[in-house]
Amino acid sequence: MFRRLTLIGLGLIGSSVARRAMQHGGIAHEIVACDASESVCARLGTLGIAHRVEPDPTLAVRDADCVLLCVPVGALGAVAAAIMPHLAAGAILSDVGSTKQSVLGEILPILRPDIAFVPGHPLAGTEYSGPDSGFATLFEGRWCLLTPPAGTDANAIAAIEQLWQRCGARTRIMDAAHHDRVLAIVSHLPHLLAFTICGTADDLAGETREEVLEFAASGFRDFTRIAASDPVMWRDIFLANREALLEMLARFTEDAQAMARAIRWGDDDFIVDKINRGRAIRRGLIEIRQA
Ligand code: NAP
Repeated sequence: MFRRLTLIGLGLIGSSVARRAMQHGGIAHEIVACDASESVCARLGTLGIAHRVEPDPTLAVRDADCVLLCVPVGALGAVAAAIMPHLAAGAILSDVGSTKQSVLGEILPILRPDIAFVPGHPLAGTEYSGPDSGFATLFEGRWCLLTPPAGTDANAIAAIEQLWQRCGARTRIMDAAHHDRVLAIVSHLPHLLAFTICGTADDLAGETREEVLEFAASGFRDFTRIAASDPVMWRDIFLANREALLEMLARFTEDAQAMARAIRWGDDDFIVDKINRGRAIRRGLIEIRQA
């Protein structure tokens, strides 16, 4: 599909794309891997998940017909600015960042007219990071949302859709602002809650804190899995999607207060209704195989 696909940032997401592309054969003839970290580049040499490892991004993108940025969203603008003059004429630039308005805001002002930019976000991940955490089936059956700005070349959009479909994902085109609101509720707020609840548990007095760890029931354990996520990546996401996240947090806080009131006044119906709505959402997820 592509002659040369350059991946920049070979952590969980970038290395998963690399593994898939190396196995699939129908994604790119040559995979070039580039990472800012010396230790990641050294590791890539032994993992064998790219045809070539090139630490210098300006050299890594040379003659690539597709460049996929897989770095934390806080680093995307600087990486795009560094490679922009070195991209091949007609190349497709894409990314996997978890927030889309911020990425468009940083890249559109510096985008060359002969480069098509097709922002993307695969809704797949784990709490692990780094090149060893990736795996070729990460995107299987998952969504990849694309938020191309108006006027983007249709062939470039179709090519990035194909890339993700060959990685096993389903694709959907979406407006960037809508994407950020949806992701604020389904991903960013749950992470905020997980980091916060673990912080609250950690603030408890010594003896209680030890018991939290010793007797962690499944509810708390599930929060700790999410809270194990990468701090740089999540700091960047919270700051880049500030407005939508704060709006969802305000709505959540109101709803949590309503629940507190129902508990205080023994409002059985309110409590049972809320729990049933949660159960229905879980059943729905299982039915559409996204659980
Ligand atoms: P990750 O495992 O931490 O990998 C990021 C990689 O990028 C690291 O090797 C990092 O090196 C490298 N890097 C950082 N700054 C760089 C730069 N300026 N130039 C080149 N390489 C650089 O992160 P990830 O989970 O794969 O996430 C990558 C992107 O995917 C983020 O934008 C994130 O929002 C998005 N995403 C993540 C998930 C998820 O669940 N993890 C899901 C969907 C989308 P260092 O380690 O040395 O910093």
